[in-house]
Amino acid sequence: MVLVFAENSDGNFKKSTLEAVSYAAEVAKSNGSTVVAVSIGKVEDSKLSELGKYGADKVVQINHGAVEAFVAEVYAKALIQLAKQHDAKIVVLSNTYTGKSLAPRVAAGLKAAVVSGVISLPETQNGFVVRKGVFSGKAFADVQLNTETKVLAITPNTFTLTTFDKSAEIIIADGGVSAADAISKPVEVSKVTGKIPLTEAEVVVSAGRGMKGPENWGMIEELADLLGAATACSKPVSDMHWRPHSEHVGQTGITIKPNLYIAVGISGAIQHLAGVSSSKVIVAINKDPEAPFFKAADYGIVGDAFEVLPKIIDAAKKMKAAAN
Ligand SMILES: Cc1cc2nc3c(=O)[nH]c(=O)nc-3n(C[C@H](O)[C@H](O)[C@H](O)COP(=O)(O)OP(=O)(O)OC[C@H]3O[C@@H](n4cnc5c(N)ncnc54)[C@H](O)[C@@H]3O)c2cc1C
Repeated sequence: MVLVFAENSDGNFKKSTLEAVSYAAEVAKSNGSTVVAVSIGKVEDSKLSELGKYGADKVVQINHGAVEAFVAEVYAKALIQLAKQHDAKIVVLSNTYTGKSLAPRVAAGLKAAVVSGVISLPETQNGFVVRKGVFSGKAFADVQLNTETKVLAITPNTFTLTTFDKSAEIIIADGGVSAADAISKPVEVSKVTGKIPLTEAEVVVSAGRGMKGPENWGMIEELADLLGAATACSKPVSDMHWRPHSEHVGQTGITIKPNLYIAVGISGAIQHLAGVSSSKVIVAINKDPEAPFFKAADYGIVGDAFEVLPKIIDAAKKMKAAAN
């Protein structure tokens, strides 16, 4: 049996969760087993059973006071208990912040080998081998897992969703956890509201020092709004407090993998590329034709951002108006 952690955000399953369930279904298909998804926290029944569409046979729903807020050791304990109870040989999670904090804990509890950042389905002809990205996505490593139980944290936006014509059976459980299992407790959580979280965005509009100053970010935000995108920036931009640190992408910032990354006035230093080079399509806008970003980009516009951006914004407005 393959157990998959179905992470939710305020009661909604993220795309990365659906990918993890689809991945689990592919793994289960290849070894002739079934998929049990585990959802922790409050999620509507209709959303739980809809996980069947992505390959879950059953969804175990844990929703009580002890799991109201995310506490890694509590969630991990519940997953460990359920994995043991269902005799799961493979546990799948998303390689999100939550998944990254759970995967090693779950692996330790199950005495299982763990691989994070997985980007391939397992190869099982010669042992059990999965591929992962290493050195900020610059290289790959094939890793063999030699334990009976295996934990895999898969990279979001890597696997396509497979759909099935079924709905999952919901099972209510307490996961064997109580408030006493929490050795820490979030006192207050302040969420950024009204914005698309950078790590979940399919489109990202990012800008660098070429924008000259924070007063010029209106164009970046306008384009992002029109494209339903999140905004990001280079390190110097956040160091100078032109933008919040939460937008800093790169080797020392967040690693993202959107479908479309638009880089405006960013040189394309190796440390910046480390966090964005796995994006599916990269568009670079830079006035210097020799900017290193053009080597990593799929499309490049050589031009002054202050002339190019208004034209792109105008085109995006027309495209949006035509679509409505
Ligand atoms: C250990 C270490 C870790 C680092 N980690 C990171 C990291 O995580 N993320 C990161 O981003 N950086 C990181 N850096 C910094 C990195 O090396 C670069 O210095 C940084 O990415 C450059 O930012 P930038 O491209 O915004 O600025 P610049 O290098 O100043 O480039 C500005 C670009 O804008 C272009 N430009 C100027 N005016 C215009 C205009 N009007 N229209 C269009 N284009 C224009 C220029 O041609 C230039 O290419 C790190 C460095 C080190 C040493």
